[in-house]
Amino acid sequence: MGFARGFLEYDRIESAHEEVKTRIKHHHEFIKTLSASEIKIQAGRCMDCGIPFCSQMCPLHNLMPEINDKTCQEDFDAAYKLLALHSPMPEITGRICPALCEEACTLGLHYNPVGIKSVERMLGDYAIEQGLIKAQTPLLKTHKKVAIVGSGPAALACAQSLSIFGHEVCVFEKNAHLGGLLRLGIPDFKLDKTLIDRRIAALSAQGVRFVTQTLVGAQELEHGIFNEAQHFISAKELKAQYDAIVLCVGSETPRDLNIEGRNLPGIYFALDFLIAQNLENQGLKLNPIVVKDKKVVVIGGGETASDCIGTAIRKGASSVTQVDYHEELPQSVDPLISWPYYRKIKRTSTSQEEGCTRLFATNTTAFLGNDKLTGIKTVKVKWGPKRKITPLPGTEGQLDADVVLIALGYAHPSLKISEAFGLKTTPKGTIEALDHGKSAYQTSDPKIFAAGDGRFGQSLVVFALKEGLECAKAVNFYLEEN
Ligand SMILES: Cc1cc2nc3c(=O)[nH]c(=O)nc-3n(C[C@H](O)[C@H](O)[C@H](O)COP(=O)(O)OP(=O)(O)OC[C@H]3O[C@@H](n4cnc5c(N)ncnc54)[C@H](O)[C@@H]3O)c2cc1C
Ligand code: SF4
Repeated sequence: MGFARGFLEYDRIESAHEEVKTRIKHHHEFIKTLSASEIKIQAGRCMDCGIPFCSQMCPLHNLMPEINDKTCQEDFDAAYKLLALHSPMPEITGRICPALCEEACTLGLHYNPVGIKSVERMLGDYAIEQGLIKAQTPLLKTHKKVAIVGSGPAALACAQSLSIFGHEVCVFEKNAHLGGLLRLGIPDFKLDKTLIDRRIAALSAQGVRFVTQTLVGAQELEHGIFNEAQHFISAKELKAQYDAIVLCVGSETPRDLNIEGRNLPGIYFALDFLIAQNLENQGLKLNPIVVKDKKVVVIGGGETASDCIGTAIRKGASSVTQVDYHEELPQSVDPLISWPYYRKIKRTSTSQEEGCTRLFATNTTAFLGNDKLTGIKTVKVKWGPKRKITPLPGTEGQLDADVVLIALGYAHPSLKISEAFGLKTTPKGTIEALDHGKSAYQTSDPKIFAAGDGRFGQSLVVFALKEGLECAKAVNFYLEEN
């Protein structure tokens, strides 16, 4: 344990954020990593309370009390090694994870929790500075071949583990750039993309092969799914060439809003806008969705909606309004009721604080306009049992809009992929595979495994990483037996 009375003597230190008025002028990261001396104090607040709920609630089960202890002793090498035992890319989760661990910190029951995520971020950055992120050579080679379809966090974590187990791993990605939503969905201001490049370089150096612009399984995908493929490999070919296949295909089918006026120009899926901006930031091509001096309405309440808000503000929108059909949550809840779970409270993302009007319990009932979008029709709603929403008579309204971004989440992976591989799907449309037991991550075809959002449904990077790692163990077990 760091400082015996650390939790009494020191307060939580938040990472410094660049001021709104300057950060909205660029697309780079604007949150600063805490310094070594600040991190020593932050980690020293950990009480080593005996039952590490933080570790339990982190999907990767990072060993936070032990990591905090080493960090407080300023033994950052040892702290990073402990962190890397469970976490395949802490410099990334230290930036974009919602920190489920901090919600479960025992100190959080009555005071401000330990800033676990900031400790993780600092150690990740320390590892980069010290050159600790490098290829890990396997002790033996099995000469078994595994194909991983997709290159998002689930795929990268799975590839890392499988190659350390000694298997030959080849990652197939339909897009030109690797990293899945880390690369193309999440904006640069939340995640610097060189962090992904470094991880991919380390994986390449340890023998993982990457094949881009190659679509696996289905010849074409559903409307709304981004696809830069130039080549195609059928499910049959892949099965013939590899000893096992892992589908880490994400959950890319966007939920649409099929209401009156949906075909008007000016209405886009969130990822059309975010992907185009990520490509523009990489100097590849200009974002064709122009929002400068326009009234932008973002429909949806999650992380994707927030990313659209921050991006639209940076691109000079004259106003940004978020329309969310969920009711406004309370500002706080009694931790004795919610702890150690993620609190259901009103949260304000850094993008929302950059200047956006938020409308809650508001449903969009029509898009307005003749030959181009001019606005949306709304109505207030009340939530009832079984998530039933009822429109409230007399609350109908209208909002002006030049551009609407639909950010209602992603229902499931392309159904054409599971169909091409002949796999069973769940009623939700995700690829059917359990996450426990003897056949964990194994689909209805024993040679094919599935992990990440494509199996679990739309989720978080930290869950995708966990699935990728666990799936690699399951595949390794299968290859040993077959
Ligand atoms: C805009 C946005 C912002 C987000 N922000 C956060 C955040 O801040 N924090 C957080 O924790 N989570 C966030 N998430 C969620 C997180 O990004 C996902 O949960 C995570 O990336 C899922 O990882 P994955 O590897 O399962 O799939 P993905 O990252 O979706 O990767 C799947 C990959 O598979 C490829 N692929 C699919 N089908 C094929 C095929 N047939 N052939 C070849 N390649 C194929 C795709 O092109 C893609 O590259 C965000 C999601 C979005 C959309
Ligand atoms: S990965 Fe997320 S939940 Fe786990 S320790 Fe890091 S910030 Fe916390």
